[in-house]
Amino acid sequence: MVTKRVKEISYAIREIAAVANEVAKSGKQIYHLNIGDPVIYDFNTPKYISQALADATFEGKNNYVDSLGVPELREEISKLVSRSYKINVTMDDVLATSGVTEGIFFLVAALIENKNEFLIPGPSYPLYINYTKFFDGIPVEYELDENNGWEPNIEDLRKKITEKTKAILISSPNNPTGVMYSEKMIKNIIDIAGEHDLPIISDEIYDQILYDKPFTSPASLSKDVPIIGMNGFSKSHIATGWRLGYLYYHDPENKLEELKEVIAKMARARLSASSVAQYAAVEILKNPGTHTAEMVKKLKERRDYSYGRLRKIEGISCVKSNGAFYLFPKLDFNEFRKWKDDKDFVIDLLETTGICIVYGSGFGEFGKGHVRFTFLPDLDILEEVYNLFENFLK
Ligand code: PLP
Repeated sequence: MVTKRVKEISYAIREIAAVANEVAKSGKQIYHLNIGDPVIYDFNTPKYISQALADATFEGKNNYVDSLGVPELREEISKLVSRSYKINVTMDDVLATSGVTEGIFFLVAALIENKNEFLIPGPSYPLYINYTKFFDGIPVEYELDENNGWEPNIEDLRKKITEKTKAILISSPNNPTGVMYSEKMIKNIIDIAGEHDLPIISDEIYDQILYDKPFTSPASLSKDVPIIGMNGFSKSHIATGWRLGYLYYHDPENKLEELKEVIAKMARARLSASSVAQYAAVEILKNPGTHTAEMVKKLKERRDYSYGRLRKIEGISCVKSNGAFYLFPKLDFNEFRKWKDDKDFVIDLLETTGICIVYGSGFGEFGKGHVRFTFLPDLDILEEVYNLFENFLK
């Protein structure tokens, strides 16, 4: 009765949460280290931002708005992007989306069909794999090399380009590794994209959640290769449930006109992104506040603590992340013979201890043998979690 394409969608991050709900029925406490949502921990959406959303609704801004986004918001985003990356983006290059999620959907829908290939990092955020398959394409993963701090393996990327390749994804800082690509690697990828006349899609959702060095923007490094950037308000502005993001086009040689037009068509067909969230986002951009910096400060402590605990465990090796809120350790199955793979490990951990993390194979081929921990909970909870985790391994 239902389609194969939908049956095949799989999203490990939420699927493991369904198993956790079953385990919770037995009365066990569940430690949710699976979902990258700061709002469900001790990070609250700042009051002035919530107030802006409430004001918008009480002022009657509850109608469908421009399909491309509220002009004032598009203007503010274009100023932010132009200023931050020293490029020239106007409001005509900006589209408001229902989260980065919808931006990914639009782009993959517009670029991929008939077994065309989307070159994405491996491991990768699962949506890229899902939507590419959904639109009858093939997600081709270029290796992020764990032995080189999760940097892209540029030779692997180069050799995976074929005449079917339609775009290259840069996802930096990456989910699930939590690591930002180096400037040198981003330049290399831009050069390769230029040689093959391919656009780059840049997922920048974690651009402000960085611990050790500032964000490297692909658009700021590209003179001619078109870059389609995606970002949003979910993570940096602690508003995951608002479902608001945006796309911007850095297109110095006007190569994206057709793509922009078909994406605008899709945007019109879905009417508009949330009106009130967009008005509130204008307030955020005009008055950015200090919440992001405060969140990053707390998260840095939690990253250091979690990494410190993981690295001491026999049979586990872990690259220290420098962004987002994830650590993606590798399990040595010679040491952990009891479990047959990462999924088996994660389910047993959940059922035995209540700790809910995500199996690495949910992030594609290169994720196998790993698990993803978030470090969003506070230090007391993290301490409990890692004590339980160590006992479980014993
Ligand atoms: N891109 C990456 C890399 C993510 O990790 C996430 C959410 O975890 C998203 C996009 C989705 O973001 P949004 O809430 O803006 O749809």
